[in-house]
Amino acid sequence: MTIKVAIIGAGPAGFYTADALTERDADVAIDLIEYLPTPYGLIRAGVAPDHQTTKKVQKTYAKTAQKPQLRYYGNVKIGRDVRLDELREIYDAVVLAIGAPRDNPARMPGADKQGVYGSAAFVGWYNGHPDFRDLNPDLNTQAVAVIGVGNVAIDVARVLVKTPEEMATSDLQDYAAEAVGKSPITDVYLFGRRGPVDAKFTNVELREMGKLEQCVPIVDAAQLPDAVTGDYEDRDLRVRAKNLETLKEFAGRDPKEKPKRVHFAFHASPVEILGGDRVEGLRLERTRVEDGRAVGTGEYFEIPCGLVVPAIGYRSEPIEGAPFDEKRGIVPNEAGRVADGLYAVGWIKRGPTGTIATNKPDGKLAAEQILADCKPGKPGRAAFEALLREKGVRPVSFSEWLRIEAAEEAGATPPAPRKKFTRVENMLDALDGDKATQEAG
Ligand code: NAP
Repeated sequence: MTIKVAIIGAGPAGFYTADALTERDADVAIDLIEYLPTPYGLIRAGVAPDHQTTKKVQKTYAKTAQKPQLRYYGNVKIGRDVRLDELREIYDAVVLAIGAPRDNPARMPGADKQGVYGSAAFVGWYNGHPDFRDLNPDLNTQAVAVIGVGNVAIDVARVLVKTPEEMATSDLQDYAAEAVGKSPITDVYLFGRRGPVDAKFTNVELREMGKLEQCVPIVDAAQLPDAVTGDYEDRDLRVRAKNLETLKEFAGRDPKEKPKRVHFAFHASPVEILGGDRVEGLRLERTRVEDGRAVGTGEYFEIPCGLVVPAIGYRSEPIEGAPFDEKRGIVPNEAGRVADGLYAVGWIKRGPTGTIATNKPDGKLAAEQILADCKPGKPGRAAFEALLREKGVRPVSFSEWLRIEAAEEAGATPPAPRKKFTRVENMLDALDGDKATQEAG
């Protein structure tokens, strides 16, 4: 008999789980349920628009989606259209692969001012995610403060300072390209609350900042230690040493070399966002690192800026019918097992860390657990489709997604790869509606 599996979330973790299930010699029927009509999660809406090579992994996911054991149901939101407990009644196993779409809150006075946007929202905006396409951030400022020194902070800084020519092969959404193009931004500050060797960015991403056409990276040589010291594992030590080497190269660059600058500033912990209703600056406390933690020194400084982007990590959202650990922002689990027939993979399982490939072992493990734990017997797909009909939900199939994708590619101005649909109603119009409303945007 067939084991019926529902995977909620069509990002990398969901696809790797589906793929691992189909790779085994088992009789499985997998329904991949996604709240947007469009699949691929953070590959589409998180990975930077100018990192198209990284996005190519979606071709592998498309192959998985077209395997006979799998069916895709886009535009079905758990909690809005269907409840988790209903799915658990219908499927032998349900896998939560819903990621971590929320911003970690920046807890400091002034964080609610206009002009403060968490990186989930800001990245979602420039990537054309329907939930954030109307964010409309005011980029009419010369200076921007990005809080955090991870890869997302670097992505945000880079997108703000690259030229239109550098972005021509990207899928930066047109409204964002226009806003960035018109903005007078000359200086972007990346603030790390700890030291340069504690930064979370990886070296390829850091080095890229040294090769931009109109922007020079700035580092204060006085903040850089001679060498990395500390008890790190080999791989970790190598990354930190490479980053330090790159930062030392940056420290020799001339701020006047190019019209724009990205400043890497360490030992600086933001304490208050300044201004009236709108952001006018950021106040920071200088820190030293003790036992790996940033400790304030009581010395403060301020920088004027009109936009603050806290890029301080993400959180998952609680899902009705599943437990939630508010402190860690994940669904509590034991190596992925949440409850009988309920599993978690990816960022909702282990928090927002790692690369795209880090999700692969999660998927493999979940597939093994499902096949070991679950007895077939539940009705699966037919019952799910009946439920959708009963609730008046219009699911988007994978072949329909391919039509949306073809329209996005046809609508792009070469060499851009696609012009995304950024509103769900426009995607559905492209499938069902009249020609007038079928254009991407
Ligand atoms: P991240 O790597 O965890 O970096 C978060 C940064 O925010 C750290 O510098 C952290 O400093 C800082 N931070 C956290 N809380 C803070 C606070 N309250 N005040 C000041 N600073 C604070 O997270 P991310 O950049 O969001 O990236 C998420 C994951 O996606 C990472 O695994 C990343 O590598 C991956 N990613 C990869 C790429 C790529 O490969 N190109 C691109 C984007 C994202 P502390 O270290 O002191 O906590």
